[in-house]
Amino acid sequence: MTGALPVPSAGAGSGRPNRMLRQFELVERVKAYQPDADEALINRAYVYAMKMHGAQKRHSGDPYFAHPVEVAGILTDLKLDAHTIVSGLLHDTVEDTPATLEEIEALFGADIRHLVDGVTKLTELELRSESTKQAENLQKFVMATAKDIRVLLVKLADRLHNMRTIHFMPKEESRRRIAQETLDIYGPLARQIGVQPLCMELEDLAFEVLQPEARRAIVRRLDHLRADSGESIAAFQSGIRELMDKEGIPARVSGREKRPYSIYWKLQRKELTFEELTDVYAFRVVVEDAPACYRALGVIHNRWRYVPGRFKDYISMPKGNGYRSLHTSVIGPGGVRAEIQIRTEAMNQVAEFGVAAHWRYKNESYGFDPDAAAQTGGDPMMALERLADMVRFGADPEEFLEYAKLEMYQDQVFVFTPKGELVSLPRGASPIDFAYAVHTDVGDTCVGATINGVERPLRTQLRNGDVIKILRSDAAEIPRNWREIARTGRARSAIRRRVRKAEQKEYRLIGERIARLSLLEHGDDMDDVVLDGALMRLGYDTEKDLFEALGRKDVSRQDFLRAVFPGAAPSVSPERRRLSDMEAPLFLEADGLSQGVSFHFAECCNPLPGERIVGVHAEGRGIDVHVIDCAVLGEAEEKDWIDLAWSRDAGERTVSNARMTITMPNRPGALAEACQIIAEARGNITRVATVQRSETFAAMEFDIDVADAQHLADISARLRASPQIVALERARQEQDA
Ligand code: MN
Repeated sequence: MTGALPVPSAGAGSGRPNRMLRQFELVERVKAYQPDADEALINRAYVYAMKMHGAQKRHSGDPYFAHPVEVAGILTDLKLDAHTIVSGLLHDTVEDTPATLEEIEALFGADIRHLVDGVTKLTELELRSESTKQAENLQKFVMATAKDIRVLLVKLADRLHNMRTIHFMPKEESRRRIAQETLDIYGPLARQIGVQPLCMELEDLAFEVLQPEARRAIVRRLDHLRADSGESIAAFQSGIRELMDKEGIPARVSGREKRPYSIYWKLQRKELTFEELTDVYAFRVVVEDAPACYRALGVIHNRWRYVPGRFKDYISMPKGNGYRSLHTSVIGPGGVRAEIQIRTEAMNQVAEFGVAAHWRYKNESYGFDPDAAAQTGGDPMMALERLADMVRFGADPEEFLEYAKLEMYQDQVFVFTPKGELVSLPRGASPIDFAYAVHTDVGDTCVGATINGVERPLRTQLRNGDVIKILRSDAAEIPRNWREIARTGRARSAIRRRVRKAEQKEYRLIGERIARLSLLEHGDDMDDVVLDGALMRLGYDTEKDLFEALGRKDVSRQDFLRAVFPGAAPSVSPERRRLSDMEAPLFLEADGLSQGVSFHFAECCNPLPGERIVGVHAEGRGIDVHVIDCAVLGEAEEKDWIDLAWSRDAGERTVSNARMTITMPNRPGALAEACQIIAEARGNITRVATVQRSETFAAMEFDIDVADAQHLADISARLRASPQIVALERARQEQDA
């Protein structure tokens, strides 16, 4: 995750020394790794591009030609073949000069024409792009580059040089648009094909444009940290080197700071504070072979205390883009935490160059070696193929973007079908993700799963090596907590399709009920009221459409009543009786309403069957159900409350999660006793966390699956009876501001 391109670039915006790479220098760079490269071809392209761009200038005032030369230079850093270098030189000629593809083919051959054509098409896409079309553009990019990865590499080099010089662009709006596009499209694609340093530099340059303040704050923080712990860091690095020497493990040790964007991203995504980051500093230990990696890991863990939960073995389970390495975090001299990456030289090449690491001589010619790529544990091309499949699968662009981001950013977990087929999923994936990964039909009919032969809840997170069998039924319902358990874009978009269908039906039911109750409140029975006038006034063709709109709250109750009784006084009278006094309220779990589709239990109060509940409309996701005394309800106008009741058998059909804070003496055995009591009362503990701990007491938060309010009361009573329990409280989340 760290590092810069092998050629020094002194931080954001500066790039190379301000001198154009000369013709002979470019040729020398290529010949350094491809001695038999067609020198004359490169020379011709250099001269041709210079002639075609003529007197054109960049925003910086430099001759335009400096840009394609820099792009070619970046491509030599990646050690790409001469055709790719030539395409870098020519990449803007068709777009910006009188040059034609026919001429390029005549002068440089069909392969280079095809590359330049591909890059030009991407440039056209880019020019047409609007900020709202990112998702579609990413789809088109993937389709256009999946065929020949070199097209993408040239385009990435092009974007990198444009980002390095973006501060010359006069309009802030354009700078921001380009930077956003870099974060949304180019960064993820570069990561996907494993060209890590290029990806990091692109993202960091974009970050500087988009959030200069945030970036400055992180840089300041890093400066501060460096001043504080600079000596410890140096001691740490030499400590690692000495340790390797002493243990007789030949190793190259280097160290670096993470880039500000990488730190920012971790702070955001993992919701950590700066102090909790273990990997602001990273040391890299490059050793001879894989066994040496594990030996080095062993001696490092033996020497310094490691940070639990931070060890990752990407050697036995490579990342989707082929990345392999051991990662661990340890606490070194002066209490400094650092990440240590241990890998071989070959693994290091893949980490630095990704897909570009596999350009080499094979069958007497220099080019991409797919076999070598496959050997790294994951052909980076496969990653793009997966995305291309998603486009063919017909995902809508927004869903695709979500999918792409998930696929690109998350580490993988590898699991098996009962027949032993390997399925790779993003970390945190659940059986439902697995089901949809196997086939949409399997996902749509999934009602449960066995993991390694044992039936497990659908929310279970899959672990490497799990064998999963999906239990299916044609009557499968949409899992109510699907938003929490479905992680992959594929599962989420498929479930969303099902939800949209089911929603319409349920909103009609809710809307009809609301209409009926609103009229009752007004003193009328809906069966006696003609709605034709209201339909016309509100612009709906059928009662069903109107009910759906009411259910979705596209039409408010007030507007509905006004449309039914035009000219009448406002209906809400202070002495209005509660709806529940007049007619049974809406029943949950009945009338075809389902959790996760048209209603959701609010997390702030986790209602349990048996408790008095009220619904409020939540933007875009139906109705949130709260307990009557929940603070959130106070925020909503009482007239917007929807009276709800549990259906009679709700307790049997629901398993709800209750959160309790239990205070106990801070001594061994107390926690065990609490857990035992809960288990004996048939409560299923799904999470335990320490809220507060002093020398004498510990307050722990428990999430417990219970059947209903009665069940929870029973558990509470048993806990209170124990001498080990000091205090017990049902946790209701505090309202934030
Ligand atoms: Mn360009």
